[in-house]
Amino acid sequence: MKKKIDRKIERNRKIEKFLAEKQPETPCLVVDLEVVAEAYQLLRTYMPIAKVFYAVKANPAGEIVELLRGLGSAFDVASRGEIDLCLGCGVTADRISFGNTIKKERDIVYAHEKGVRLFAFDSEAELEKLARSAPGARVFCRILVDGEGAEWPLSRKFGCAPEMAVELLRRAKAAGLDPYGVSFHVGSQQTNLDQWDSAVGRAAAMFSLLAETDINLRMVNIGGGFPAHYRGDVLGVERYAQAVMAAITRHFGNDLPEIIVEPGRSVVGDAGVIQSEVVLISQKAFGEEKRWVYLDVGKFNGLAETMDESIKYRIRTPVDGGPSGTVVLAGPTCDSADILYEKTAYRLPMALKVGDKVQILSTGAYTSSYASVGFNGFSPIKTYCI
Ligand SMILES: *Cc1c(COP(=O)(O)O)cnc(C)c1O
Repeated sequence: MKKKIDRKIERNRKIEKFLAEKQPETPCLVVDLEVVAEAYQLLRTYMPIAKVFYAVKANPAGEIVELLRGLGSAFDVASRGEIDLCLGCGVTADRISFGNTIKKERDIVYAHEKGVRLFAFDSEAELEKLARSAPGARVFCRILVDGEGAEWPLSRKFGCAPEMAVELLRRAKAAGLDPYGVSFHVGSQQTNLDQWDSAVGRAAAMFSLLAETDINLRMVNIGGGFPAHYRGDVLGVERYAQAVMAAITRHFGNDLPEIIVEPGRSVVGDAGVIQSEVVLISQKAFGEEKRWVYLDVGKFNGLAETMDESIKYRIRTPVDGGPSGTVVLAGPTCDSADILYEKTAYRLPMALKVGDKVQILSTGAYTSSYASVGFNGFSPIKTYCI
């Protein structure tokens, strides 16, 4: 059963009021912090035994980090910059996990100096760096999963075969590190709940294997992958949480490990709305039906996840409801890669005109943090947290 979209996600009056009253320069992203808090609490409610590490890369706005810190969240970071961001927002180092498997050794040194004691790795060379520069730290090994069913897959680049992970965790112990657990990421906006079951199964098998040689792993990090509401139905986060908890119980029985979850998209995605202006509407030949609609936001200033038309945002216009026609949607830059949707059937109202403001919904995740520094003179998108 698909869950009906929450009313506040379908239509966020607080954001609409802000946009109407403040008339901010477009494009801009407005994030409703109440929706962020609710998404965090929802996860806590349905996964009470899990410790939440918010994946900072999804949206690194200081207001969001501070809000989540206040609610008790921990943080998954990928770089020195994200460590500084968290520390600057008052997050203590014991609530930071350095989850990137690709780190410069001097950044490991930096993190360790700042008190970070939890690190990811997925290779022998990274393990050697950690043994040298973060002695005694808790480390977890990321395993490969296929990522099938994810709208934004993360497979291949991260993780190693479970057999290799077992051996590396043994070496971690021999090298003076604390072999703490196993992590995986089934891919972002994952639509297939079974993915967690097979990944948790692999993790459980590793626990058993390592226990034979007196290495007792304690933690499973189930990564992210929970959804936001784009076009098309998705199950509610509660259904995801239930499926994951069922998988953990099935594979670990009564001897439950510590669970870490690293949500990004599901915490901030639905909380954000991008307001954009229609810059141009055109046809490529007289009499052609298909319109090209150019917005002031595109791939380089906020909508990078439209790459390969992967993430399909819901769009609202001020003239919704009347007759509509097929469109190609594109951004404003002089790069032909800056087409948002061409293959995906998007229709917009015939009454839409140049200068109209359109709203791109559920854009709180991977938008502001994915914008270029100013390609073609178009500034990165500005964020307002309200
Ligand atoms: C990006 C990332 C996440 C967040 O994933 P979502 O699908 O946005 O929830 C979690 N963990 C790691 C290691 C990541 O790189």
